[in-house]
Amino acid sequence: MTDIEPGELEAPVSTLNNAFADRPISLTAPGGIDRAAHHRLDEAWLAAAWSHPSTRVFVVSGGQVLIDDRPDGTTELVMTPAFEAPMTETHRYFLGTDADGVSYFALQKDSLPGRMDQSARPAGLREAGLLLSPRDAGLMTHAVALENWQRLHRFCSRCGERTVIAAAGHIRRCPVCGAEHYPRTDPAVIMLVTDDQDRALLGRQVHWPEGRFSTLAGFVEPGESIEQAVVREVFEEAGVTIGEVSYVASQPWPFPSSLMLGFFARATSPEIEVDGEEIHEARWFSREDLEAGFASGEVLPPYGISIASRLIELWYGKPLPKPGDVV
Ligand SMILES: [Zn+2]
Repeated sequence: MTDIEPGELEAPVSTLNNAFADRPISLTAPGGIDRAAHHRLDEAWLAAAWSHPSTRVFVVSGGQVLIDDRPDGTTELVMTPAFEAPMTETHRYFLGTDADGVSYFALQKDSLPGRMDQSARPAGLREAGLLLSPRDAGLMTHAVALENWQRLHRFCSRCGERTVIAAAGHIRRCPVCGAEHYPRTDPAVIMLVTDDQDRALLGRQVHWPEGRFSTLAGFVEPGESIEQAVVREVFEEAGVTIGEVSYVASQPWPFPSSLMLGFFARATSPEIEVDGEEIHEARWFSREDLEAGFASGEVLPPYGISIASRLIELWYGKPLPKPGDVV
């Protein structure tokens, strides 16, 4: 938030100057985990950490983990000591340590373990990310991102040979040509565009239901800066030209391997011409327009873990209604 200087973007900055603006964006809050990357190649250290009684382990499978809704209303990532963990046909990822010296591992398996005797249930990151603590959400995000990368990069991109996992899940090595492959992250930009009347440009994607509006977004292309990507994507999708661009915050988005880079952007032309391919409809909304749209049901609030909701909230000046809320 501190990357925005007062005056750069007058209206959004005014909404940043309140306590609400300090609320962390889901999936970006500090989780208290030190990734301790220097241990990843130290097999003796990893073996000792794995066998330590305080170590905690969870299974990730197909982007899902087991979560447990506690009687006190909180939700936890289900973790066990290593000696209880199912190790057959498993890949092991070292995720880091916490301030108490507890080590955390994820096991990638073909299916989640059965937990019929408890209240645990499987959940993907879109659901669990809203429920888990920052620590647990961060551990899950790390594990899901590694699993997606491992699943999609089993062969050497240099020679085509099957690669093997190394560095506790963070490298794949080619046994033939010696190439080392590292987890990849694909940058994508997501932006809240405002005009000279401080209205927000929100679009509806082709496959979204009627009334669902959110920020525009798109992938950064080769040889392009992220600011250039903001300008290009807004013009391609909505025909609106952009002047000033200000970075706000980023968010890991492992679906399967993106990093969302959030921006505020100022339009220099108000005319809208949607591309009809990705964006079916785009409109300028004043805060009053949006509030009235929520109240009448004409506009469906974006809701979820995405940074899109937070970008809109920062401009809107208060939390967006959740589905089912009486506005
Ligand atoms: Zn190779």
